[in-house]
This record gives sequence, structure tokens and C-alpha cells, in this order.
Amino acid sequence: MIEFRQVEKHYGDFHVLQGINLRVEQGEVVVVVGPSGSGKSTLLRCINRLESITSGELVVGGAKIHDSRTDINKVRRKIGMVFQHFNLYPHKKVIENITLAPIKALGVSKREAEETAMLYLEKVGIADKAHSYPSQLSGGQQQRVAIARGLAMKPDIMLFDEPTSALDPEMVGEVLDVMRALAREGMTMVVVTHEMGFARDVADRVVFMDKGRIVEESVPEAFFTEPREERAKLFLQRVL
Ligand code: ADP
Ligand code: MG
Repeated sequence: MIEFRQVEKHYGDFHVLQGINLRVEQGEVVVVVGPSGSGKSTLLRCINRLESITSGELVVGGAKIHDSRTDINKVRRKIGMVFQHFNLYPHKKVIENITLAPIKALGVSKREAEETAMLYLEKVGIADKAHSYPSQLSGGQQQRVAIARGLAMKPDIMLFDEPTSALDPEMVGEVLDVMRALAREGMTMVVVTHEMGFARDVADRVVFMDKGRIVEESVPEAFFTEPREERAKLFLQRVL
């Protein structure tokens, strides 16, 4: 579903991604962990070309993301992204936040888009908030709206960039539960998170990044009980 081959990325003189090789199979959940500034967000943002890569190859759902001739909008429709700060439209009701893209980008009728939106709102447990504005919702509820919005495009891949980092602690669980359910249903997911419990339970693989490189990649059991790399050990000592 996603394959990085020898991907390099620079921000000017700064070499932010170095020799990245990574494959994500359909239905796999890959959790990316690592210190702040290690390039996790950049890695994620390259997948839907919110950032372009400097060299190497990046193939997503069969499309060459590194090739400027690729119709990136077509690829993006198949990729949902959830950010730390929800990024909902504040002046639109919850349901409008969800129906906007399907109506505009997929040409779905308003009525059908609203029906689909309600299904996903039920799925994330907040159908009763459909006609509220984002500001009337808690952080956890807003993030669940953001997930429903991503799902309403019927994506093949969902990307999550620290989806719970901006939430009050008591709301983290409700968002992780939604993500857990999604993983169980077989969604292909790449998740950047500091929630090590989630990584341990849900990830098929954990990828540890440091200073722009993938330093270690293993199944959660191995990563959490016997990390091979010194940097991974130090990181785990700090976060666990
Ligand atoms: P992480 O998500 O792991 O914290 P990021 O991918 O956000 O790391 O950033 C990796 C490094 O790249 C950081 O040192 C950051 O300052 C730098 N960086 C991120 N975005 C830009 C940018 N647009 N221009 C220049 N440097 C950037
Ligand atoms: Mg980040």
C-alpha cells in the first residue's frame, strides 16, 4: 500500500529524512515513534505530498508520489489524515465539516453525503453532535469528528499525526478506542503517537525514528521488551 525506497528529504540544508525504506501492507497498522524533531511528521506528510521528497521513490496505492506527473488530488482522496489540532472548519456545523469534501471532491449528492456522515458520526459515537459547531464540542469529540471526516471519503489509508497529543488526558482513551476499532476492521494505518500502550496493543509494527532515520523497526513485543538500538532503549526509558 505504501512503499518508501531510499527516500531523502531536505529542508534547505537540513537533511530531515535520510535513506528511508519502509513498506506498509494493506490492512497493516504501523506506529511511528521517536523523539521530537526526528522527522515523524515529515515522513507522514510525504505520503500525501504535503511535503515533496528530494530523491528516492515513494509509491502509494500504486501511484508514484515522487513523480510530478502523478495526479496527487486523486491519490489524496484515498488518504485520510488526522492532525494533532483537529483542523475542523470552525464556522461549519459538524455534519457540514464531514460532507464538504465528499460533495466537492467526489461529487456525492448532499443527501447521500449527509447519510454517510451520520453513519460515521454514529461509528465514532457522536451522532447527537451533528448539528453543533466544533467550538461546542470537547477536544476528544472534535478529534472524533476529524476521524469521521477522514472516513467519509472512504479512504484506503488513514494517517494520524499525534492525534491525542493536544487532548486532556481524560479524552485520550475515547479517541484511541475509535482508532483501535478502525484497526480491527482492517484499515491500513500509519500512526505517529507517544501513546506506547496503543503502540503495544494495536501496532503490527513499530518504527523508531531518530535524527531523520529509521533506526529500528520491529513487532511491538520485541521493540518494547528488547529494543536492539541504544537510542531506542534511551527513548523508551524516557517515555515509559
Ligand atoms: P517530528 O514530527 O518527529 O517532531 P518533524 O518532521 O516535524 O519532526 O521535523 C523534523 C525536523 O525538520 C525538525 O528539526 C524541524 O524543525 C524541521 N522542519 C520541519 N518542518 C520544516 C520546514 N518546513 N522547514 C524547515 N525545517 C523544518
Ligand atoms: Mg511531529
